[in-house]
Amino acid sequence: MSVEADTNPPKGNVQLLLKKLVAVACFSIIIIIAGTGYGIYRVYSDQVLRSAEEDAAHIAAVLLVEQEDLLFTDGTDGQPVLFVYPMSLDTLDRRFRRFLKAFEIVKIKIYNADKMIIFSSEAALIGDTDTGNLRLERALQGSPDSHHENKEAFRDLANEEMLDVDVVESYIPIRIGNAVVGAFEIYADVTRYRKEIVTTVINSVFILGIILVGVFGVSFFFVKNASTHVREAQDKLHVLATIDALTGVYNRGAIVDRARKEISRIDRRRQQQNDYSLSFIMLDIDHFKKVNDTYGHLAGDQVLRDMALRIQETVRDYDQLGRYGGEEFLLVLPDESFESAVVAAERVRQAVRTRPFMYNDTPLPVTVSLGIATSLSGEENLDIVLQRADEGLYKAKAEGRDRAAWVEPSSACLNKL
Ligand code: GH3
Ligand code: MG
Ligand code: MG
Repeated sequence: MSVEADTNPPKGNVQLLLKKLVAVACFSIIIIIAGTGYGIYRVYSDQVLRSAEEDAAHIAAVLLVEQEDLLFTDGTDGQPVLFVYPMSLDTLDRRFRRFLKAFEIVKIKIYNADKMIIFSSEAALIGDTDTGNLRLERALQGSPDSHHENKEAFRDLANEEMLDVDVVESYIPIRIGNAVVGAFEIYADVTRYRKEIVTTVINSVFILGIILVGVFGVSFFFVKNASTHVREAQDKLHVLATIDALTGVYNRGAIVDRARKEISRIDRRRQQQNDYSLSFIMLDIDHFKKVNDTYGHLAGDQVLRDMALRIQETVRDYDQLGRYGGEEFLLVLPDESFESAVVAAERVRQAVRTRPFMYNDTPLPVTVSLGIATSLSGEENLDIVLQRADEGLYKAKAEGRDRAAWVEPSSACLNKL
């Protein structure tokens, strides 16, 4: 008979907690990495966009000053007007290309205030009007506008085809005094920066990932350690709560709890086995007070310890023993008929009386009285069955001790069934 198997408290909660912790940590790492990666990408991309727009504004300003002679003509009121004579287009184109060679500009257009293209690095577009272009409209109202896009194929100023190109397209207003008279459309190649951004994002995310996994790993290690201590403390508490410190068998609460579980399962067990029985033996040491008085309290304690061992040795492995009171024990005998319980009780009685208990080499003759009760068919009230076992014990005491006895179920009890 063993009490160990049943003494472990459920460990599911702590393990479930650890699993949840790991899941939350993984989820958090993914969210933090994705969020940070996206954040870094956005910051760098905005930075590239802004600096491409600033560059475009500077280039536009320089071109306006340097090519003033070809870009402007005098109007009827003597004021300069943005206008390129057709015969100047080639010269302008040559000068633009020479100037723009130093920059990563891949396309350039100039619009007048009527949204007509008066110059383009793609000559075929000159003379076209772009009416539905909101961004051009914004520029013509005085606000520069830039946006980033990826082009699968693109022809640069040298008319060479480029594949998978990232460009920033900037519209820069052209002013004479306070009036906006046209706009530049400048395409800057920022592919190189995109690659740098991607590399930066990957490196940052990788380093962040390592830090997070390290931090969560260390935290998990500490939490796991702490949870092991909690579990050990839980185990100890559970043992303290269920095991009798002196004898090592179940205490009263634990044995009654097990008895209650057995009796509540009786119906299901009887369905599986037609003749399923459940018996109880209440055992009390005879004249134990005299043992204490004669040999001392420590001797009495030794008898109680040895008594628990002796009973355990005598019954089956799956029978359950508990200390019900001071020198009183309760045995729960699953699947044991009344007749078998009588035999078991007799075996225990003999095992006690035939072999004296030893204390400091002094043999202590001890006997026990036992009360037997078997749960009747459909009888699921533990208190009634235990009361019958107790009455059997009382009867055994009354009839002279060192014996097993039982009482018939009362007619009131039988009528209830
Ligand atoms: P009976 O045959 O009628 O059962 O007589 P008894 O002397 O065994 O019964 P009683 O209930 O009068 O005495 C029980 C004694 O058990 C009294 C108490 O001091 C002793 N006892 C209870 N718990 C312990 C314990 O943990 N250790 C020791 N040594 N004695 C205990
Ligand atoms: Mg007694
Ligand atoms: Mg007693």
